[in-house]
Amino acid sequence: MPRILDGNRVRDDIKNELKPRVDALAARSRPPGLVVVLVGHDAGSEIYVRNKIKTCHDLGIHSEAITPPDCISTAELLAVVEGLNARSDIDGILVQLPLPPQIDTKRILLAVAPAKDVDGFHPCNVGALVANLPAPRACTAAGIIELLKRGGIAMAGRRAVIVGRSDIVGKPVALMLMHEHATVTICHSRTAELPAVCREADILVAAIGRAAMITRDCIKEGATVIDVGMNRLEDREQVARIFRGSPEKLATFDRKGSVLVGDVDPIDVVERAGAYTPVPGGVGPLTIAMLMVNTVASAERRSGVC
Ligand code: NDP
Repeated sequence: MPRILDGNRVRDDIKNELKPRVDALAARSRPPGLVVVLVGHDAGSEIYVRNKIKTCHDLGIHSEAITPPDCISTAELLAVVEGLNARSDIDGILVQLPLPPQIDTKRILLAVAPAKDVDGFHPCNVGALVANLPAPRACTAAGIIELLKRGGIAMAGRRAVIVGRSDIVGKPVALMLMHEHATVTICHSRTAELPAVCREADILVAAIGRAAMITRDCIKEGATVIDVGMNRLEDREQVARIFRGSPEKLATFDRKGSVLVGDVDPIDVVERAGAYTPVPGGVGPLTIAMLMVNTVASAERRSGVC
């Protein structure tokens, strides 16, 4: 049986390590402060934001959710962000994506002060990642590196293949794996012979957004497989096909009306991998944990602790 890289455990460890840092900041001047800006009422985004606020609360980080209406203009949202840039009690600003179509998302992300950009999406922070300089890092990608390090998975000298080249996961995790001295290949929708390229991977990262696309023919025996995908299945036949031989999943589907699956086939990965992240409970919990790490680090830098 392959080893499970348990994201919930790593998240709890990271939170336990952050708590004394938060307490020290609070004792010195004030707790770290995070503002999440959530435009409109996207159900998925509302759940993410609730979880972020709850995690802040658990750690003693001051948090606020600002919820402008769906019809807000780019200029009005820019004014919100600029107001937050100017607040001395706020160390982190997170603009929840996606934004409504009338908003110029790039302009909004550019407006966030780089020092408060706890998502690590600002071009200044992307540049710092390329140059391997300290700065907030994209949370999901940084979480993957934490999972690998704390799971005892060696990266130096090993072949890493990333499927997906998005700005928020694929590209940053590729750079971070390179900085850890892995030999990195990035794949995408135009990659030829994808299974053969994937089979070269000692570490395979799937960040695609396609349910169970990575099957056994893509997984080298004994590889470490990191599944970033979060795909909600709402078709019973698809659930039965993907989770073949798992009556528990079908029972969950019948109870809830949907189940989550990653980008990696959940049966094949168990049969082929040496270690893997489950969905849910793998990469997912790390994204919020790393947001907390970025917020605390930003507060420490801004208050002169480091
Ligand atoms: P994007 O849609 O931005 O990027 C998907 C990438 O996958 C693109 O680079 C695309 O290639 C590539 N791709 C699509 N189809 C194929 C294919 N058939 N073969 C090879 N490559 C393909 O997605 P994200 O990076 O934002 O997210 C990826 C997944 O991770 C999603 O399921 C998302 O929900 C999940 N996610 C989970 C998080 C977590 O906290 N666990 C956080 C963020 C994302 P191309 O560039 O050529 O179009």
